[in-house]
Amino acid sequence: MNNNQRPTALIMLFGATGDLANRKLYPSLYRLYKKGKITERFAVIGVARRPLTQEQFKSNIKDSVLSAIKDVDEAQLDTFVTHFTYHSHDVSNKSSYAELKALAEEMDAEYGLEGNRLFYLAMAPEFFGPITQHLKAEGLTDTNGYKRVIIEKPFGTDYETAEKLNNMIRASFEEEEIYRIDHYLGKEMVQNIEVIRFSNMMFEPLWNNRYISNIQITSSETLGVEERGRYYDKSGALKDMVQNHMLQMVALLAMEPPIKLTTDEVRSEKVRALRSLRNYSEEEVLKNFVRGQYGEGTVGDTVVADYRKEPMVDPNSNTETFVAGRLKFDNFRWAGVPFYIRTGKSMAAKSTKIVVQFKDIPMNLYYNPTEELSPNLLVIHIQPDEGVTLHLNVRKSGQKGLTTPIRLSYSNKSVDRMNTPEAYEKLMYDCMRGDATNFTHWDEVALSWKFVDSISKAWKEKSDTDFPNYKAGTMGPKKADDLLAEDGNEWWPIEDFDIETCS
Ligand code: NAD
Repeated sequence: MNNNQRPTALIMLFGATGDLANRKLYPSLYRLYKKGKITERFAVIGVARRPLTQEQFKSNIKDSVLSAIKDVDEAQLDTFVTHFTYHSHDVSNKSSYAELKALAEEMDAEYGLEGNRLFYLAMAPEFFGPITQHLKAEGLTDTNGYKRVIIEKPFGTDYETAEKLNNMIRASFEEEEIYRIDHYLGKEMVQNIEVIRFSNMMFEPLWNNRYISNIQITSSETLGVEERGRYYDKSGALKDMVQNHMLQMVALLAMEPPIKLTTDEVRSEKVRALRSLRNYSEEEVLKNFVRGQYGEGTVGDTVVADYRKEPMVDPNSNTETFVAGRLKFDNFRWAGVPFYIRTGKSMAAKSTKIVVQFKDIPMNLYYNPTEELSPNLLVIHIQPDEGVTLHLNVRKSGQKGLTTPIRLSYSNKSVDRMNTPEAYEKLMYDCMRGDATNFTHWDEVALSWKFVDSISKAWKEKSDTDFPNYKAGTMGPKKADDLLAEDGNEWWPIEDFDIETCS
């Protein structure tokens, strides 16, 4: 490994006692340490409001690592936690940044960090702008090494608030120093979309409107809002999932091949793809998008109450817990090919999958009056199973002239899942090495919000919803099926496409 593969950093983690830090960030840092991707030359200052002793903080970190990782070397974990220091600090209080600065300088000298600073803002979004402003005002960004800031989601609640936030952050950090997290971009199979497309001769020449009939992206959850009712009821599925994760997957599927795999080239192709996504008028939104809210039903063996009866949810809420949409691109590659997306809560399956449906062959020699020839499908399994399945037709054994569909599958689990890094592990490592490819550029965020804002606006105008309009434990409202039926298509039953059952 060269030096850039073993970066040094002082990580200043704002929100150090929070859920994200405990569930994801500490275990991810430990994995990097265990694999030797970060050496002894790293330090973490955990910042949060709660008073904690250094011992309590270190013990929390140990608990978080031990509960997430099975094969922990306890002696190594003891050394790992010596790199952590806790600083109780109210981030809106300007004066305590001076103490933080002194502490940062101390840690910098102690661990030989060359002034490299990574500020991770794992806190509620209203703090993102003020923290970056204080960091600059109090001199924490004056450093000889690199300075980078990781911003968690959500990045704004619409285009206007996102732009305001961006301007605040830009007053302290350059665009190339801002790492906006979309953790889907850290997922193994999302990163694989580009590899599947651009390293296989059998796909890229067919990756256009001559050979592809439609693309379907489903990200369904079986869980409801749980304890996130207060946040979710203000956000809804459109802002929580479509603006970021769904549109990022769409962009990776639709973009042109970049001339190189550099951050700038990949991002500029994604931006170009998002620019060619058709922005709908209000009338078009109502024709191309469907919203839903779950009502009472059964998910697995669990009886789920109406969304409107969930804790911290307005009993008259019109917030959508489901969105389906038909996206259209106005460019040569994709004109005429619908990209269907759907995402929701309390659905029948927990699954994120992409189904690329190829067109029917021009003449079917194997016509079977009882069964139509299945189209070829490329299924990319994003989560929880990871892999790729190709649906082909072969001869039905012993039956001249008849065909049967088969699936060729690659499951990442069976091959190297054990070594597959977690999304946050990859993203933190990328940030320390200065690779922003799998983070979202402001231009992507801006275009995504503009697209989503036109949907929110149209829905706001037409506030008479028929909620609840799908039963918990189903794949969403009937209108989502009607959307595809209008084009002569239907959703592929992704709940039956589990890679484990494919052969
Ligand atoms: P959380 O509420 O569990 O933690 C918030 C943290 O901020 C705590 O450490 C708290 O002490 C600290 N804090 C609050 N006010 C403070 C103040 N005035 N001064 C100093 N510290 C203060 O939140 P979370 O779930 O960890 O989420 C953090 C961020 O990560 C949010 O932006 C969220 O949207 C995002 N996120 C979280 C998850 C997740 O799984 N939890 C997933 C994706 C994104």
